[in-house]
Amino acid sequence: MGQGALLCSTFQAITIHPPILICFLCSKHPSSAVTTTHQTQMVRFFSYVTAISFLFFLQLLSYSLAARPAPTPSEMATETLNATWHNFSKFLDAPRGSQLLGMSDLKLYFHRFGYLLPKRKINTTVTFSDEFDEEFESAVVEYQKRLGLETTGKLDKDTMETIMAPRCGMSDAAVHPSPAGLTKQLHTTQHFSYFYGKPRWTRPSPINLSYAFSPDHTLDYLTSKQVKAAFAAAFARWAAVIPVSFHPTEDYRSADVTIGFFKGDHGDGEPFDGVLGVLGHAFSPENGRFHLDASERWAVDLSEEKSKVAVDLESVATHEIGHVLGLAHSSVKEAIMYPSLKPRTKKVDLRIDDVEGVQALYGSNPNFKLSSLYESDMYSNGTRTTTLTYLNRHFLLLLMMLLLIVIRQ
Ligand SMILES: [Zn+2]
Ligand SMILES: [Zn+2]
Repeated sequence: MGQGALLCSTFQAITIHPPILICFLCSKHPSSAVTTTHQTQMVRFFSYVTAISFLFFLQLLSYSLAARPAPTPSEMATETLNATWHNFSKFLDAPRGSQLLGMSDLKLYFHRFGYLLPKRKINTTVTFSDEFDEEFESAVVEYQKRLGLETTGKLDKDTMETIMAPRCGMSDAAVHPSPAGLTKQLHTTQHFSYFYGKPRWTRPSPINLSYAFSPDHTLDYLTSKQVKAAFAAAFARWAAVIPVSFHPTEDYRSADVTIGFFKGDHGDGEPFDGVLGVLGHAFSPENGRFHLDASERWAVDLSEEKSKVAVDLESVATHEIGHVLGLAHSSVKEAIMYPSLKPRTKKVDLRIDDVEGVQALYGSNPNFKLSSLYESDMYSNGTRTTTLTYLNRHFLLLLMMLLLIVIRQ
């Protein structure tokens, strides 16, 4: 029995007049009777099928537009990377044991962010080999753990995209996990962390910190008012959860937190690297130095700023204030203290991980309720779930409609 005959059998089970479908679907039954009533039913049936298929196609189209796949490293390279990190895309899926020209630069990246110790120093300059050796594989595994990635030990797509994404210049190492972090580590590697020694601002509570902007290291395309507004919003997010307040001052020299936009080597041993790459850095308590890379295209309103490489100022400010307060990087991707941030992305809401981390240092603001944040996080997770099941629900509805129509024929 051929496929056509099988189709006919199927339709015989659900239609009143199987010969009609046999004629359409199976040319092996040309002798089957075809009446005018049958033809009318047939046309009606396929009209419904066509209409429903079209609706389903529209659903699929809207879904695919709403959730486009992540760009490949090469796509990212043209839009979101600085020149140095752009070159790393050639190491995608490089196997262990391979010897690839320039791999030493990728190892320097791992060294810079706290994952690889140098074996060789030439005139105090750290150098690495171009071999994907066992030590480098261990560094990749550690990096994947700290960045909340699947721990494959390979330079897979997710890992390469994360490596090449713009990020904070602070190292991911030299951290001092909290007791809560260590407890969580038994079950998962995802948690907040502190700088080594767990430094914090130690003045008596309630702590009031002043902040000021460098009069010399500014941007010429944003007004002082715009920059100050972005920072005021960022400071307010932290002040809402801990008993620490912040106030602006014009006295840059005596301020607790000193903020400025700097280019390249600016004298603190952590030179900036041009467009994207490292976006900024801030020192641990009670240093207060807070530097942003003046080469970035900083945005205070992404709907107005059209640059493909624009970086949201308030998002980075909120992250760096976390460092000023004593938080190191988190491996929770949604957390403010996660080290990387894609261009044209606004990410300013503190997550439970951030709040738990900073409250373990300073205690809770009496006006803040952690339960409300839990609800907020659950709500955002629920929104994602709803989006993912939206298509399934509608598809089932369409299938039910189709069955009802067929049964009524
Ligand atoms: Zn950082
Ligand atoms: Zn600096």
